[in-house]
Amino acid sequence: MCGIVAYIGLKPTKELLIEGLKRLEYRGYDSAGIAIINGGIHVARTIGRVSGLEEKVANDAAFEGTVGIAHTRWATHGKPSEENAHPHSDDASAGHGIKVVHNGIIENYATLKTYLKDKGHTFKSDTDTEVLAHLIGEMYDGDLEKAVQTALKEVSGAYAIAVICEKEPDVLVVARKGSPLIVGVGSDEYVVASDSSAIVAHTTQAFHLDDETVARLTRDSFRTTTIDNVELTPEIRELEFSLEQIELGEFEHFMLKEIYEQPLTLSTCMKGRVDATSGQVILGGVAQFADQLAKGKRILLLGQGTALHAAMIGEYLMESLAGIPAEVEYASEFRYRNPIVEEGTIAVAISQSGETADTLAAVQEAKRRGALSLGAVNVVGSTIARETDAGIYLRVGPEIGVASTKAFIGQVAVLTMLAGYIGRRRHLAKEEMSNLLSHLESMPRHIETVLGESEHILNVTKGVVKHDNWLFLGRGLNYPVALEGALKLKEISYIHAEGMPAAEMKHGPIALIDEGMPVVFIATRGSQYEKVIGNIEEVNSRGGHVIAVATEGDTNITAHCKDVIYVPDVPEALQPLITVVPLQLLAYHAAVLRGKDVDKPRNLAKSVTVE
Ligand code: GLU
Repeated sequence: MCGIVAYIGLKPTKELLIEGLKRLEYRGYDSAGIAIINGGIHVARTIGRVSGLEEKVANDAAFEGTVGIAHTRWATHGKPSEENAHPHSDDASAGHGIKVVHNGIIENYATLKTYLKDKGHTFKSDTDTEVLAHLIGEMYDGDLEKAVQTALKEVSGAYAIAVICEKEPDVLVVARKGSPLIVGVGSDEYVVASDSSAIVAHTTQAFHLDDETVARLTRDSFRTTTIDNVELTPEIRELEFSLEQIELGEFEHFMLKEIYEQPLTLSTCMKGRVDATSGQVILGGVAQFADQLAKGKRILLLGQGTALHAAMIGEYLMESLAGIPAEVEYASEFRYRNPIVEEGTIAVAISQSGETADTLAAVQEAKRRGALSLGAVNVVGSTIARETDAGIYLRVGPEIGVASTKAFIGQVAVLTMLAGYIGRRRHLAKEEMSNLLSHLESMPRHIETVLGESEHILNVTKGVVKHDNWLFLGRGLNYPVALEGALKLKEISYIHAEGMPAAEMKHGPIALIDEGMPVVFIATRGSQYEKVIGNIEEVNSRGGHVIAVATEGDTNITAHCKDVIYVPDVPEALQPLITVVPLQLLAYHAAVLRGKDVDKPRNLAKSVTVE
């Protein structure tokens, strides 16, 4: 969600910052801006795309400096407009020339604004960020680092900020609380960004800032402190991914690239963790809690969006494989209730970025109430990974597409492995486990087979893409897959879609079905197959256009549907890993056919770091 890039070094900053913003575009934004020190500080801002900002500064010699900050904004306070775009300045009359970019929300901005107005400050935007810029200016007495520290003590909410000041042209100050910020360490340069994708082209050495930590950077030195000015020594680590992983390569969109990467990323996710021969799952990240997991009384799965759908699949698997009662909670709801966390509760936070604000807060709350907290996240070193007792990384590589695909497969795989890991320690026999794991090992190959159907799926999509309302229906483990299919379609093609348990349709939504309405059924062979066929017939009798995702070899299904997409025959517990793939492709093709920007869907942010 929105992005920050900042630089201090010896290279031309303008190109570096614009390139960094482009790398962060996938996070979602509505406007962009840049400030560069070159004599004074030069600022350019624009509503819309980074390319627009690039044009604005392209031939302007004023922007030829080597220290600067840049931002893509995802509006929270004040509509997307040039005035509200960052960087924001401190009060002009003070003459300090302070510029701030900010990601997050200053919750007490209204109180602070009144306080500053009483002191004579005048504001030019509707943002909470401008209030922070003025506050830093108010505290400034010749030392930017100190002014930032002092101002942040007065602030409640979430922030990642980068600050520069005309009076200290060789200093960059950054800080964070709640919103991510990484400092890349190069030789005689620092590249700061919301995530590694804007850093790896320049350096692979980096440190994460902890909450309420400030870093003062010059070209050849850095100092990190708490906001109370206690000095800290951050751990510089190697960033885990390469430039190649975040380039499009031969693909037209990141989403498509990531859909096609799934066989490989699933293999990487399982590598060294699944041993079918011995019937064992090896999960180093949680090994020290193996006993506690085996004795667990209840599993609480926390997530939002796609991660919540993975959690719902996890719920079925925890019950069927691990034999532990499991519950799924929207993290955003859980954290504001007074949840009962009994002894023996295991809370699992599921999030691609590891920064999802609600999921983080929810797992912290569960931990405070005595639960063993685990993270199932993709981004190494992210906040959830650091705040939980233990965890299992998804290892699917950077996910740039806003509509999550390979991370979903990774989340489901991790939850399957965790359920097996616990189940084997409780009641699952070795043979049962070996059998399941050998099927799990072959899932990448099966996903490959489904990807081979893309052309056929495109043709199916062409037949129904003009319809504005769709239903996705499934039962059992395929019910969350139906939810995920509907979400994918909504996110990128803006077609209205609903997912629900197939049996639920009769309790109201069936009223929607009219001639030609697309209804996607996940109708694979399994314990509820016959029931699903019954539901399909109910749709057929009302004129709906049924598209069935069915098990290969099931010729019977063709009599019941207009279109069929076959997937390989796999055990029921593993079906979500392949039934979701045609739905991803269906959504992708629908968006492209409707001329939508697949990788930059309107209003969406990739990693939702505000509540
Ligand atoms: N709250 C700030 C604003 O609305 C920052 C939003 C962001 O994270 O981009 O301008």
